[in-house]
Amino acid sequence: MDRLKFLQSLALIPLAGAAMNLRHLHKVTEPFASTDKMPVLFLGHGSPMNAIQDTEFSRGWRTIGQSLPKPNAIICVSAHWETKGTYVTAMEKPKTIHDFGGFPQELFDVQYPAPGSPAFAQQTKEAITSTEVGLDQQWGLDHGTWSVVKHLYPKADVPVIQLSLDYTKGPQYHYELAKELASLRKKGVLIIGSGNIVHNLGIIDWQNQDQGYDWAVEANNTMKSLITKGDYAPLINYTSMGKAFQLSIPTPEHFLPMLYTLGLKDDTDTVTFFNDKTIMGSIAMTSLMMG
Ligand code: ZN
Repeated sequence: MDRLKFLQSLALIPLAGAAMNLRHLHKVTEPFASTDKMPVLFLGHGSPMNAIQDTEFSRGWRTIGQSLPKPNAIICVSAHWETKGTYVTAMEKPKTIHDFGGFPQELFDVQYPAPGSPAFAQQTKEAITSTEVGLDQQWGLDHGTWSVVKHLYPKADVPVIQLSLDYTKGPQYHYELAKELASLRKKGVLIIGSGNIVHNLGIIDWQNQDQGYDWAVEANNTMKSLITKGDYAPLINYTSMGKAFQLSIPTPEHFLPMLYTLGLKDDTDTVTFFNDKTIMGSIAMTSLMMG
């Protein structure tokens, strides 16, 4: 090696070192340190009135909230935020969105002032590499999120971001997308899907508040059995599962958040069901925890 080349090779060492330091610096500026793995939740949210009423369901959410370690942040995939493309809310202070009509003023008066986290939104965007995730400044927390999260964390002291549902994509896509969030579970992040696995508002039975139609009970039981067995293909391909599933999932948005929970399950997780009940004919409040 001649002298020039020798000097050049020496010069490469500090350069490589500097690049490593920059990468290291980038890592330590990530918002959260490593933690034990957080569980994952799917919550059947039902009527927004559960936000302000003491019901068996709101008590179920409170009990689960008390059983969990306090997260560093929450990501909620709500049935009520559908977009073309995938977005995360990235504002400092997400507003409480009252995205419903025909309810008492008391419900419109509810504010859930949990902070957002632009840095954590950015980290979530970076965790997802299969698609470009947009940073949203317009949305906030819709009732699919705040009506349940306010029971888990009544003090509103955990940052919450929402991840939108891309309505142009099918169930397999959502199941796979969830897997890209898995590493965040070890950053103290609680990932929640919020919807209803049986949800047919068009044929609600107002006379039968406490029971589901036969097909709703059948679909609820079949879904739970498949989830317990880890047999997810029929759930992802729910459109070919027959009449009870067709009636239970007339549109996908309340069902898809549950597929995020399944996508995040790893080999050591076990499943626990709670709020396991069909009501008003065509709604299942059935919720689950993977952990
Ligand atoms: Zn809903």
